[in-house]
Amino acid sequence: MSILGKDPRDQVRSIRRKTLNMILEASKSSHPNEFGALLRAKEGVINELILLPGTISGKRSAIFYLHMLPIDFSIIGTVHSHPSPSFHPSGADLSFFERFGRIHIVVRHPYTENDWAAYNLRGERIDLEITD
Ligand code: ZN
Repeated sequence: MSILGKDPRDQVRSIRRKTLNMILEASKSSHPNEFGALLRAKEGVINELILLPGTISGKRSAIFYLHMLPIDFSIIGTVHSHPSPSFHPSGADLSFFERFGRIHIVVRHPYTENDWAAYNLRGERIDLEITD
């Protein structure tokens, strides 16, 4: 069941370059651990990261910490990193995606601007533009 994303006016189309760069930097500095954060958007543009303290030095997967969160309706999705060369969602990722938010970004090593992908709650790739 999805509790978020019912309102089509809230359609998320893009991400701020600044926010994407923060994600890539945080993923890089968390390596070889996973980095995880929540995403907020304004007028269809992802422009805010909400960091999860537990994931910074965490030995568990970022998804574990994301599961611990209370429900917050201003959150439109999540981001987490894979310390591997794959940004394909794992089985745990997929079961998580459909329960929490509607846009999920996965970042992979080595965390360049080509090393991320966005998915909908069914784990299907979606296009997200980068805006300045
Ligand atoms: Zn994952």
